[in-house]
Amino acid sequence: MTLTIIGAGPGGYETAVAAAAKGIEVYIVSSGPVGGTCLNEGCIPTKALCRNAEVLEDLRNAGKFGVETGDFKFDIGGAMARKDEVVSQLRGGIEFLLKNKLIHLVYGKASFKDNHTVAVQAEDGSTSEISSDYIIIATGSQSAMLPIPGTDLEGVITSREILNIDHVPQRLCVIGAGVIGLEFASVFSSFGSEVTVLEYCKDVLPRFDTDMAKRLKQALGKRGINIETAAQVQAIEKTEEGLQVTFLKKDKECKVLADNVLMAVGRRPAVDTLNLADAGIEFTPKGIVTDANMRTSVPHIFAVGDVRGGMMLAHVASAEGERALNTMMAEASGIVPECPLKDGIDLDIIPSAVFTTPEVATVGMTEDTCKETGIKVKCLKSMYRANGKALAMDAPEGYCKIIAADEGSDFIPGQILGCHIMGAHASDIIQEITVLMNKKGTVDDIRKIVHPHPTLSEVILNAARQGL
Ligand code: FAD
Ligand code: NAD
Repeated sequence: MTLTIIGAGPGGYETAVAAAAKGIEVYIVSSGPVGGTCLNEGCIPTKALCRNAEVLEDLRNAGKFGVETGDFKFDIGGAMARKDEVVSQLRGGIEFLLKNKLIHLVYGKASFKDNHTVAVQAEDGSTSEISSDYIIIATGSQSAMLPIPGTDLEGVITSREILNIDHVPQRLCVIGAGVIGLEFASVFSSFGSEVTVLEYCKDVLPRFDTDMAKRLKQALGKRGINIETAAQVQAIEKTEEGLQVTFLKKDKECKVLADNVLMAVGRRPAVDTLNLADAGIEFTPKGIVTDANMRTSVPHIFAVGDVRGGMMLAHVASAEGERALNTMMAEASGIVPECPLKDGIDLDIIPSAVFTTPEVATVGMTEDTCKETGIKVKCLKSMYRANGKALAMDAPEGYCKIIAADEGSDFIPGQILGCHIMGAHASDIIQEITVLMNKKGTVDDIRKIVHPHPTLSEVILNAARQGL
């Protein structure tokens, strides 16, 4: 069996390695460096900068711990150099993984010649063609821009440019209080920028638990980040005082001045040059249409990751790649795969985190979705300020909310349906809940599991105990 994968981000390269391990000959085509958005201009570089922000905040608070730091200076060049080193080390690791006799890595831009043949144009202009039994499209996504005047002005940037910026903007205006907007707002506030965030919806992180979104807005506000919600951005103009962003709030025209404007209003699937229509692959402006096994409208072509326009997360892209591969393997062994395939991967239980200070993490249903869908639930809460480790760390800000099925719902009473945490290391401790949700665990299971003391994981235990 032969497989062509277009794109070498987490959806592409992880699937290539897994396919080769199963004895499949793989061609993987990449127009950019291996690792894709996640490694080169997404998850990893942002988290490296988040760590810089954390170090700066620790230095500012060092006095509380009896540590005299004296004056200290922040050099963004040094932060960027460390970030580049981390990225380059990890990229080397992926290049090593792809050095496998069954994997052929081809650099160039791929497009469909027909539905079995992919044409590749290399940077030097040379072209080649690859034909294979199966094809996976994993081309990811690109920053979306608002259709307003001024987005092409110098100083208006996206996540790609801000990750390589050579200065700390004195005034940074972020358009969009989604995941990207808030992570950069948090980091650049720690770096010393005066940050204003403009969000169209009435809350930040519109798809997250409302309660948590409100608390996060408050926490970021306390750090000096100015967040304007229900703000309709109209235009960006160049003025003598800097870039002027005009927005409407409650029908009133308001203005913000900034040195840089970060556009963080979502991402759109990278399909423009693929020639999908000629290959008969169905797609919408949201992304490539697939079934639950990631199969497109052309049976031997699959699409995984951001290009599908679902949850744009690195771990989703790799899990979807695994599902596509499992489906092909089942088919190759003569089985007609059921949809969704029963391969043990539950793509409905996806944890995610936002690496602001404080962090937030979430998995499963929100209280609002349960209300909207008429599921009777109990919400069990605990506070970081009652947790010994959090106080010892000087991280008292935060809370945990577990959403559990109540008597009279279609679920097991007490079954965990979701969890939302704001606070230090929320991204790490959420995984306990993800594991339990995969096993249809209940809050009673959490109470019976011994948790080490003193740890932040006891925030979850304490929330579960509220239901006693
Ligand atoms: P990508 O990683 O985008 O890879 C697609 C690859 O395909 C690219 O290498 C591209 O060069 C290549 N390609 C595109 N078109 C073609 C073509 N025609 N021919 C050949 N190759 C092509 N997710 C998280 O889970 N956690 C995070 O903390 C996180 N942080 C993020 C921070 C930022 C600033 C951004 C922008 C994203 C972040 N994400 C995060 C999202 C994550 O990066 C994506 O969900 C993930 O990279 C998607 O993987 P993918 O394989 O679908 O596509
Ligand atoms: P997003 O969809 O999370 O947020 C975009 C925000 O912009 C929304 O809050 C939206 O209401 C707002 N918006 C849209 N139009 C607007 C307008 N005209 N004016 C003001 N606000 C407007 O998208 P994103 O933050 O660009 O991130 C893209 C994807 O990347 C996300 O799906 C996310 O999952 C992924 N990502 C994940 C992580 C992580 O896991 N930590 C980090 C960064 C990015």
